[in-house]
Amino acid sequence: MIKLDNLVVKMQTQNDCWKDGRMLPSVEGILVHATATPGVNARTFSERWNRPGIEKAVHAFIDDMEIIQNYPWCKRTWHSGYNPNTGKRANDTHIGFEICEPPGHTYNGGQMVNYNPVKYASYFNMAYNNAINFCAYICQMFNLDPLKPGVIIDHSEGYKLGIASNHSDVMHWFPYHGKNMDIFRKDVADLLEKDKRETNDNTPDNYAKEAIDWAVANNVLKGDLNGNYMLHSNITRQDAIVFMKRVYDLIK
Ligand SMILES: [Zn+2]
Repeated sequence: MIKLDNLVVKMQTQNDCWKDGRMLPSVEGILVHATATPGVNARTFSERWNRPGIEKAVHAFIDDMEIIQNYPWCKRTWHSGYNPNTGKRANDTHIGFEICEPPGHTYNGGQMVNYNPVKYASYFNMAYNNAINFCAYICQMFNLDPLKPGVIIDHSEGYKLGIASNHSDVMHWFPYHGKNMDIFRKDVADLLEKDKRETNDNTPDNYAKEAIDWAVANNVLKGDLNGNYMLHSNITRQDAIVFMKRVYDLIK
């Protein structure tokens, strides 16, 4: 299982969004934002938005150090804006989070000015990795496929898909570090795959290896049908009968 060691819960009970009590009917994806506010970290942002009259809300703020959770993951929040072409909002379907930006740059028309990608490479890598971990954690929790179209998108893609307002984040920033959303989605998928490999109990002890290889090759051993052979789990009466039946079918 993916764990978030640096997840800090600070529920935003003073924000108007908290008080509307509306939940997501289902979690269908994750919308990635960046704050476009240089030098304000996740903890500070989270504190700033914990009051009435903000009219914005995200599930989490992420920086190089921490992931600050502000709402239960199933709460409907206010992050996507409104798409003028369709009238739709990813607020109704997607969890939203903001990646905080390092200091030193300014903005002109949605573009970063005087951003220093060399100086802030390590900040970016740490914040990016936190965002990858976060998305993998959410995908695992809600059984989402990060590579399925429309599941993990940034704000700019949300606009093109007709479910968000016209913003450029995070693609105003990621390319400075050689990243884009396709790479991001792939990184999330790779992490989930790695976690699955590590979680599966598929390595037999030496004495059993030959038999296990035979059982897998002949469909006698199928594990949980999701790739985990559960080699060291206890066997039940019904498991024993299933194995007997599979062997019987094999040799009859
Ligand atoms: Zn945004």
